Amino acid sequence: MSRFWSKLAAGLSPYVPGEQPRGERLVKLNTNENPYPPAPGVLAAIAETSGSSLKRYPDPDSSELRAAFARREGLDAGQVFLGNGSDEVLAHAFQGLLKHDRPLAFPDISYSFYPVWSSLYDVPFTQVPLTSDFRVDVQAFPKDCGSIIVPNPNAPTGVLLGLDDIRQLLQAHADAVVVIDEAYIDFGGESATRLIPEYDNLLVVQTASKSRSLAGLRVGVAFGQEHLIEGLVRIKDSFNSYPMDVVSQQAMLASLADEQWFQDCCTRVIQTRERTAASMATLGFEVLPSAANFLFASHPQVAARDLFARLRERQIIVRYFDKTRISEFLRISIGTDEEMDALLGALEDILP
Ligand code: PMP
Repeated sequence: MSRFWSKLAAGLSPYVPGEQPRGERLVKLNTNENPYPPAPGVLAAIAETSGSSLKRYPDPDSSELRAAFARREGLDAGQVFLGNGSDEVLAHAFQGLLKHDRPLAFPDISYSFYPVWSSLYDVPFTQVPLTSDFRVDVQAFPKDCGSIIVPNPNAPTGVLLGLDDIRQLLQAHADAVVVIDEAYIDFGGESATRLIPEYDNLLVVQTASKSRSLAGLRVGVAFGQEHLIEGLVRIKDSFNSYPMDVVSQQAMLASLADEQWFQDCCTRVIQTRERTAASMATLGFEVLPSAANFLFASHPQVAARDLFARLRERQIIVRYFDKTRISEFLRISIGTDEEMDALLGALEDILP
């Protein structure tokens, strides 16, 4: 704490990201990155970036990339907003669309960044408990909330909501903006983007960080009817009217151009996830059904804290939520088959 800090900085509990260890040879299963490289065209696009394109500012509207995202979803370019990672897109949503006198509602448990943005941007919020089997309880959202945000699949549980549930939420809260945070939707879920023409209160946020193996590039996107997108653009323009850098725009276009690579990568992650979940269940874990690129699991006999520490000794790093309500769980990202075999072997060794 410094005497120069503002009241806001002093009072904030910042978001704590997963560890990004450098220089150690680790089996890294802690931050839900994709174990496979991005499409080859992405690397070619980066290598081909020329000095003459870098010396100029990027297209302030990212027109080509917005059009490419729009085509993929059957939407118009005016229904697409881009940012540096979906965290930036979400931050703008908190300021431009979710802040009202009536509280924002989100599930408890959900993405731990939501309460941080709420306090940063002074957004009153209320949390809606999950059902006893860890599903988001769409019936339980308060009638009078001003806005809603739900990760789908939920994070860090991985549990998926179907489109019927999302429709229910949109209909029951027609006066509230409903943001569906689809960071993990490509690993077996069905995107709500197809509901956008029907619902003027729906904003869908996605990222290139997970299913497209581009966490290092920082590309996030929001889809919604034009009036919602305009609300985000207003906020964005107040900070930095150049939405994304030249390299990210070209690399992302190349990623969108290779649908086959993307599909194959997702399929491999899903197959590895299902096999790993089954093996962990055999080892006595309670594993929640996951539609994401991670598993959320606890063991009835061994504390998550101990499992985390003993895996770390074996150079395997998973996510442990120390000093939180979910400290009996581990969240394990899906790596390559070899990485998951190393994890399963270590767990067999560790467990009594
Ligand atoms: N939403 C959820 C639910 C997430 O888990 C994450 C990743 N931490 C993000 C959004 C942000 O991802 P990114 O900024 O890399 O797009």
